[in-house]
Amino acid sequence: MKSYHALALFSGGLDSILAAKTVLEQGLDVLCLHFVSPFFGKPDKIARWREIYGLDIIPVDVSDAYVRMMAAGPAHGLGKILNPCVDCKILMLRRAKALLADYGASFIISGEVLGQRPMSQRLDALNIIIRDSETKGILLRPLCAKRLPETEAELSGLVDRERLHAISGRGRKDQLALAAHFALPEIPTPAGGCLLTEEPSAKRFFPLFIHKPEPTPADFELANIGRQFWSGNRWLAIGRNQSDNARLEKIIAPGDLVFKVRHLPGPLGVARPMPESAWDADAVADAAAFIASFNPKAMAVAGNVQVDVTGFPGSPVLVAPGRGTPLDWQEPAWETAKEGKRERFTIHGVGGR
Ligand code: SF4
Repeated sequence: MKSYHALALFSGGLDSILAAKTVLEQGLDVLCLHFVSPFFGKPDKIARWREIYGLDIIPVDVSDAYVRMMAAGPAHGLGKILNPCVDCKILMLRRAKALLADYGASFIISGEVLGQRPMSQRLDALNIIIRDSETKGILLRPLCAKRLPETEAELSGLVDRERLHAISGRGRKDQLALAAHFALPEIPTPAGGCLLTEEPSAKRFFPLFIHKPEPTPADFELANIGRQFWSGNRWLAIGRNQSDNARLEKIIAPGDLVFKVRHLPGPLGVARPMPESAWDADAVADAAAFIASFNPKAMAVAGNVQVDVTGFPGSPVLVAPGRGTPLDWQEPAWETAKEGKRERFTIHGVGGR
């Protein structure tokens, strides 16, 4: 395996590119780690990033550890939505630290800029991140290094501190100048790409934290597809189109109930039982009628339709398609998540961004 001087946290955002490039420019070998979870990461972009930015990049899947951290409640709390930015950085840095020896690397690079984000990039938060990830002395933040204490790589002369930067604050002027210096062929837009910072995604994820003590990454993948509905602790995902149906089909797990109106093309419905959720014959018939109501061809039929329910011994079920079923299926709302968030998660630390 090729060895490197440093491992870099690499989101694909401008700061992460510039941080890696700054160290690479000093003649050091840098391996970029692109972290992937159900909430962030674009592993399909790695090949293109490698090509246009001339960086060595590998994906690092942190899904299991990340979901465990979220379910346990991030020690430093959440930001504005469901984003646990401080704990997220700590988790990534710990993983990077654990990988150092594999690549013969001696330090870690991250693209943080002092004061860029109100919470996770304040000086106290940066210090907490170093303390809790146990990366004191080995975490180099090249974009704002001159405003921070010297790291071991600088003290030993491996990295020339004079060629690092002193960027701070929220502006992008300095970063754009640096991007021009490196002649980056493309400048990523500042938009985040972390689903935990976005209400439309976060509201889909929140019920899982309520109804399943130990949710899995696959649960969050399912929560991110199609229309989502809950009735108490019963959960349904319904495809909106062919692409959703194909994605749903791919992630069906043992124990799931899969609903499909017989002989009439339309949405696929997937019910994933939660602990203690009762999927008796009445609940299955209710969900079947509800799912069939999203099938225009089934709605055009005067009378009942047959719905195949894979995983249910009484399949097929005969139902009248309809929305106003007794189980009163509801789409998750951000307002509910926002109200429940404080109770479900410990909000006491420096939190998110
Ligand atoms: S926005 Fe926050 S939680 Fe999301 S990936 Fe970035 S640091 Fe992690």
